[in-house]
Amino acid sequence: MNPAGVESRPSPIAGDGLFTLRAFTPGERIVPYTGRRLNQPPDPGRPGAPTYTLEIQPGCWVDGDDPTNPARPANHSCQPNAELAYDPATDVAWLTARLPLAAGTEITFDYGFTVAESLFHPCRCGAPDCVGRIVAAPLRGAFRRHRRFSRPRD
Ligand SMILES: [Zn+2]
Repeated sequence: MNPAGVESRPSPIAGDGLFTLRAFTPGERIVPYTGRRLNQPPDPGRPGAPTYTLEIQPGCWVDGDDPTNPARPANHSCQPNAELAYDPATDVAWLTARLPLAAGTEITFDYGFTVAESLFHPCRCGAPDCVGRIVAAPLRGAFRRHRRFSRPRD
């Protein structure tokens, strides 16, 4: 079952992605990011590194690896067209359009991973400035410097 306005289907980025079935305007809510709440970050070294556990506000993580999470298929991109916006009034994080989205667009957002988490998550988003790992936008500069002094891992 697809939530209103979006569908899950195979993505050129990774696995299944989340795609619009209609246009969305900037700031418009698309679907909520739902799952079990955690008050500490996941262990990035745990086998099957937790791709779907995201920090929705400082100190609060959601394990979105749940088939009932309508935002679960949404892929990360280094040039995302959506973002997770936390609504403190309802305590819900919404996947929200950042740009005008035409029908049929793949919806992407910044998973906001730390550098440590990023080491377990290659990025294949295809953006011209893709850093090759899924890492939060504010950390990408530091991450590029880090990689310059590291041997490739894969
Ligand atoms: Zn990327």
